[in-house]
Parts: sequence; structure tokens; C-alpha cells
Amino acid sequence: MASSDGIRIPSRLPLLLTHEGVLLPGSTVRFSVDSPRNMHLVSQRLLRGTSLKSTIIGLIPNTRDPEHDTDDLPPLHKIGTAGIAVQVVGSNWPKPHFTLLITGLCRFSVSGLLKERPFVLAEVEQLDKLEQYTTPAPQGVTTDDGELGELSEKFYQTAVQLLGMLDMSVPVVAKFRRLLDSLPRETLPDVVASMIRTSNKEKLQVLDAVSLEDRFKTALSMLTRQIDGLNLLQKTRKKSPDNEKRVLSVRKGGVFPGRQFNVDEEDEDDGDDTSVLERKIHAANMPEAALRVCLKELKRLKKMPQSMPESALTRNYLDLMVELPWSKNTKDCLDIRSARTLLDNDHYAMEKLKRRVLEYLAVRQLKTSLKGPILCFVGPPGVGKTSVGRSIARTLGRGFHRIALGGVCDQSDIRGHRRTYVGSMPGRIINGLKTVAVNNPVFLLDEVDKLGKSLQGDPAAALLEVLDPEQNHSFTDHYLNVAFDLSQVLFIATANTTATIPPALLDRMEVLQVPGYTQEEKVEIAHRHLIRNQLEQHGLTPQQLHIPQDTTQAIISRYTREAGVRSLERKIGAICRAVAVKVAEGHRVAKTEASVPEGPLEQGDKAAAPPEMPIVIDHIALTDILGPPLFEMEVSERFILPGVALGLAWTPLGGEIMFVEASRMEGEGQLTLTGQLGDVMKESAHLAISWLRANAKTYQLTNMVGGPDPLEGTDIHLHFPAGAVTKDGPSAGVTIVTCLASLFSSRLVRSDVAMTGEITLRGLVLPVGGIKDKVLAAYRAGVKRVILPQRNQKDLEELPANVRADLDFVTAANLDEVLNAAFDGGFPGTDQAHTPPQLSSKL
Ligand code: ADP
Repeated sequence: MASSDGIRIPSRLPLLLTHEGVLLPGSTVRFSVDSPRNMHLVSQRLLRGTSLKSTIIGLIPNTRDPEHDTDDLPPLHKIGTAGIAVQVVGSNWPKPHFTLLITGLCRFSVSGLLKERPFVLAEVEQLDKLEQYTTPAPQGVTTDDGELGELSEKFYQTAVQLLGMLDMSVPVVAKFRRLLDSLPRETLPDVVASMIRTSNKEKLQVLDAVSLEDRFKTALSMLTRQIDGLNLLQKTRKKSPDNEKRVLSVRKGGVFPGRQFNVDEEDEDDGDDTSVLERKIHAANMPEAALRVCLKELKRLKKMPQSMPESALTRNYLDLMVELPWSKNTKDCLDIRSARTLLDNDHYAMEKLKRRVLEYLAVRQLKTSLKGPILCFVGPPGVGKTSVGRSIARTLGRGFHRIALGGVCDQSDIRGHRRTYVGSMPGRIINGLKTVAVNNPVFLLDEVDKLGKSLQGDPAAALLEVLDPEQNHSFTDHYLNVAFDLSQVLFIATANTTATIPPALLDRMEVLQVPGYTQEEKVEIAHRHLIRNQLEQHGLTPQQLHIPQDTTQAIISRYTREAGVRSLERKIGAICRAVAVKVAEGHRVAKTEASVPEGPLEQGDKAAAPPEMPIVIDHIALTDILGPPLFEMEVSERFILPGVALGLAWTPLGGEIMFVEASRMEGEGQLTLTGQLGDVMKESAHLAISWLRANAKTYQLTNMVGGPDPLEGTDIHLHFPAGAVTKDGPSAGVTIVTCLASLFSSRLVRSDVAMTGEITLRGLVLPVGGIKDKVLAAYRAGVKRVILPQRNQKDLEELPANVRADLDFVTAANLDEVLNAAFDGGFPGTDQAHTPPQLSSKL
């Protein structure tokens, strides 16, 4: 079919590879290009050229997935359309791209590739005549061609029939009518195929139909299908009034290149996607106000050219609106008895918390519109706060979504950005709803104590609005700009400490303390939950890996020092990974002393025998996998010199033991303080020194040369080692006194004693907070005796029975009693002092 005469296209054409559509001769289509090759073609050829010839390019439909459009040139489709670029528009938003308006001229086939870079240049052979588009339709057309003539007549008649079914008042339909009569018949298949609704695949069939006869046949079947489709629609319209709108919009949808009839539903991708969107909007079941906004935006969208950046913005907005779960929810399936079983199965210990959660759920069950307080779990990391939240969602059969608030300091993080702002998005609440896709999920507001504040407004205020039952049924995200009802969402918050939760927020919450675990509890948690979970996550079974209890104990005491179980879980995970590798490799973990203890696992076993199941992790395997113990140093080893005492501190991460060290040197009575400590602790240090100086005589305290004033000719250095967390608070008072008393008397403090308590200038001991966490930390560190203020006696009831039984508690009302309990055999000068054993070591 190659034409040998008439107007010719250049025999060398730069080729544009198009993903998004097929250009047929005689029609004009807009293409957006952004791949490197196509961009080069536009910038180096179209934008630089000055002649008409330089605006002619070849378009090759790229049938491959655009994702794979990498460096290599994909195999080219054999037939393309030469086209003339009538308009080029460049834009940098949302990424650099050009939009080209191209009118198709004629088919060509690729006979050879000349170059692939920077854009594709090919030798081409023209397949259609060009004159047919430029000369008016001859009278009587080509009917004398026998069969072809019949075909073309039939095609024309069918097109007329289709027109008869359309609304002539729509301009594109009128244009269709005009073209039908003015164009030569042989151009009709191309023009009609690009005007009626056809998929890319169908257009490709028309493009590939090089012989006119094939082309008529292919396009004719598409025409008849359109007619059948319209007939069907009109029939159903009569039956159901609902469809009336649809058919009308089908008609109004009109006939113009790229956007045609909305007849066959499955062909959505190529069709009029605003009408798809419209359908979705109606199907989203949104409240009246939201629907009105959507329809208004849709109307604007329809009027906008697609290349306008705002068109993408509006489309994103509408996509979000139709995706939001306006009326989608899950049905609560609450059965308190099974809820209790589930909570118990998921979590060991934490009885108080589980009880309160069940009460909360029971009340909810009785009173569906619960406007009660928001539960807030407060405790150190890794004690299971998040995981209880997840269980609550499971017991209710609700969706679960965690919103991390740590470091959020901009209120638009919660409430979204207004849409006038480029790059604006909805806030985390609306995003979360989109993710869970139901309007009654459990939202876990994680780390409410770490909300920040900045010039961009206070996120706590926005959060307050979210949580307030009086307001949250019409929560308005700035991006959405219409109200969304949050009243069905169940909010739960978590925090490490209540101290930094904004007071207004705290006021709305019911705080449930989740304290840290004892060693025994951790062992239980590990064996009931963590090991099983980790095995599962690493694709292992209990038949492959066994961790005995004493190994778990060793992990807890020698590799972790935490209130929760998070690093314990991580260490177990590390063991699982190591074993998984062994299992996969068919190697064998060094199991007995026979292996080389200090070498890596393989050294003991070069034979690569299949592993003996289950692989048991003993202490040797443990050191092999986790390395040398991180916390081997025994507390007692620190007490080899006078001037060391063990205090107990409370941090948001749980209780911690805290050494206080002091030393003295010749000087002018200066006090130096180092370590991570705050102002209150510095004051405590001064108080302690004043009290000791005032009572130096009673307690036989001396300076370096044995003088009666401990500070005379002496500089003192007080240090609070270790711990990245700044410790502050008055509770170190007794520890500082004990430490300095040890220094000034050259006596050693008992190595198994830890203490806490605030002091006064007159030597009284005042109560402090966080007793439970502090005692648990002392217990973890292997302390035997804990000295605490007398007025904290009542707090001891909160402790687990075994901890109470194992520890010796001394409650002190004044410093005299503290010193007496802290030193072996009491302290000289104190009421109960016995003759103390003299210290042999010297400074
Ligand atoms: P948090 O939110 O308090 O920081 P997580 O809920 O993330 O802690 O808990 C960390 C891990 O420890 C989770 O895998 C959790 O299942 C587990 N865990 C914590 N406490 C318990 C418990 N009492 N029983 C069972 N597993 C627990």
C-alpha cells in the first residue's frame, strides 16, 4: 500500500514513543511526555527547528509498561503515525514534562533504526497517501471499486445511523456530522475510530490495518458495537429512571477525540474519567454538604484543560473525597467474656490495666454513645501499651491505626494544609481514615507527651478538637474543608510520662499507669509471647529452635537493662536470625563446650553437618550470637572506694539505678558537679554539703588532713556517671549525703544498698515519686536493701509480692537513719551505731 507519488513525509523521522494513546491519521490528540528520550526529542528537535519539516515527527505506540521504560529501547511497534506538532507546552509541575498537540498525517512503517540517543531517529516508509486529507471529497467517491465500495458505503450508512441516535445540539456531534460528509470515504475509518469511544487496543487494531479493506472492517465492527450499546442503554433507561441521567450524560459526554461515549463500562481507563469520578462521587455516600462541594469541584475540573496543574490538584482532592469512609464502618462485635480471654491470651501480667480496659469496654457496650474520657496508657517504652491498643481493636472487630505524634509541632500535621497552598495535604487524622477505610476505627495516638509547639500553631489545640465529643462530629480538616464525623472513632493515647502532656489534653484523659516488669515477669512474657512471635516472624518452629529459661534470664540480666521488653524482643529476634541462617545453610550451632567458645559458630564445626534439631541456645551459643554481655559489671565492683553510693532515679523510660561518685583533692573548698544533671540536683548537692558540715562533729567527718571541717583546704568533685537522660529532681538528696559521708569518713557504703529521698537542711527525709519503678530498677540490678522515705511506705503495696519478699526495705524519716542503714554496722555518731569495722583501704 505504499504510495509512490504525491506529498511525501521525510524518509527519516524522529520517533516519539507514546504510552498514553494512539494517534490515528486525521485526528488531533494531546500527548504528555516526560521520558528522557521524548524530552530530548522535543527540546532538541521540535523547539530548535525552524522549518515546517522539523515539526513532523513519528509516533510509535509503546505497548510496553511505562515502568519498564528504562535505558534500553523497547522493541518498537512496527507501524506508527507521522504527525505534525501544532503546539508544544512545557511545564515543571508536578515534574518536568511537555504537552504536545499533534495532528496525525499518515501511517508509516519503520524500516531501520538510525540512532537511539538522545532520541530515536529512524528510516521510515510512508504507507498512506497524504492527499486524501488535503483535497475535498470527490463526488461519487470510490464506489466503483466493487467490494471496497460496498464496504465504504455500509460504513458511511452505519455512521449515519449512529449519528441519528445522538443529540445533534451537542457541538461535537454536529462536527461529526460535518466531517462525515466532507471527508473522502477512505479517511473515515481512521477519523471515526478516533472519535467514537474506543480503547487504545482497538485504535491500535485500526492503526495496524494497513489495507483499506481491513480498516473499514475493523472500524465498522466498532461502530456497530456502539450502536448496540446505545440501543441497550435506551432500553434499560425506559425500565429504570435511574439510568436516565446516565444516558443523558452519555449523550452530553459527546463525541470528540479522546473522550467518547460512555457505553461499555469495563473500558474505564480510556474513557471519560470525569464521568467515572462522578459515579464514584455519587456512590461514596457522603453527607449533603460534602457532596455539594464535590460536584462543584467536578464541574470546575471538567472545564479545566488537563495540562493545567490545578487540574491534577482538583483530581487528587476528589480522589481523596471519594475514598474516605463517609459511611463505611464495621459492626462492633463485643463479647466481654471473649474480650477478657483475648486480652489475657495476648498479654501476660498487667492485671490492673486489663481490668480497667474491660470495664471501659463493658460500659461502651451498655451505652453506645460513650462520651467518657479517653484512655491514656502511661509507662516506659516496650511495656505493651501499643499492643494493648491493638488488642482492643481486635476484641471490638474494628480497624486499627497508629498515629505517631512524637515530634509533631505543626497543627497542620493534625488538621491538614489549606488547598491554596502548593503541596498541601490532609492531616494525619484524615489520612488515617483513608488508610483504615472505615469511620469507626481504633486510633492510637502514640506519644502524646512528645507533642511539640511551634509558630505554625499548637498541635495540642487541634488534637483537643479531635478528641472533644462536643466538637468532633464535625471535624474540619483544612484540606478537605468540609466536616467529617469523627464521633465513632475510638481514641486511645499513650505516653511515657504525664509531666509533658499538655494540661488541657491531660484533662480529657483517664491515665492508666503501665509500670515496668520484674525479671520473672519478663521471663514469662518471653516464653509465652515473645519467643513464639519471633519464631513465627522468622519462619522458624519450636522444633527448630529452643531457648531454655535460664538463657532467657541471662539475656534479660546481661544483655538488656530496661523496664519493658522491647530490647529483650530484639535480642530474641537476633537469635532467631542467627539460627535461621544456620538452618538455611545446614550448619550447626555450637551447642556444647566441645566447640571453641571464643570463636564464631562455624569454627567448632567445619563439617557442615545438617543441624541437630532443635537447636538449643545455651550460654555459649548466646555469647556467640549476641557478643560479650553488655551489663556484666556487678554493682558491688563499683564500691571499692569510699565516696560511691547508689541512688535510684525515675525517668520517663522507667526506673534506673544511678551511681553517685565523689572525690576530694587539695583546694579552696570548691564544689564541682559533673554528669547529666539539672538545677534541682545541684541544689541538693549544696544542701547535702551544708548539712554534713553542720554535723561533721557528730559524725566524725574530717577533711583530707583530719581537720574538723570537711571542706577546709579541700575541693570536692561530685559526679553522676552514665545515662544519656538528664536526671533531675530532689530525690538524689539522700544518695549525695551518703556518698559524701562515705568520702569524709573514708568508709565504704554497703554495696547492696540503693536509696532515694529528698532532704531538708535540717536533715529530714521527704517523700518522692516513682517508688515502684525505682524499686524494680534496684531489684533488676541485684540490690538487696532499699532505703526510702518513711512517708513512701504506702507505695510498697504496689510492688509484686516476690519483689517485696526478696528486698529489705528501710524507711527513714531523717538522715541519721539513712546513714545508719547504708553502712555496715551503722555509722559512727548515729543513734544505733555499733563500733564500725575500720576501713583498710586508703585514698
Ligand atoms: P509500648 O507501646 O509500650 O512501647 P509495645 O506495645 O510496642 O510497647 O510492646 C513491645 C513488645 O512487647 C510487643 O511485641 C508486645 O507484644 C510485647 N509485650 C509487652 N508487654 C507484654 C505483655 N505483658 N505480654 C505479652 N507481650 C508483651
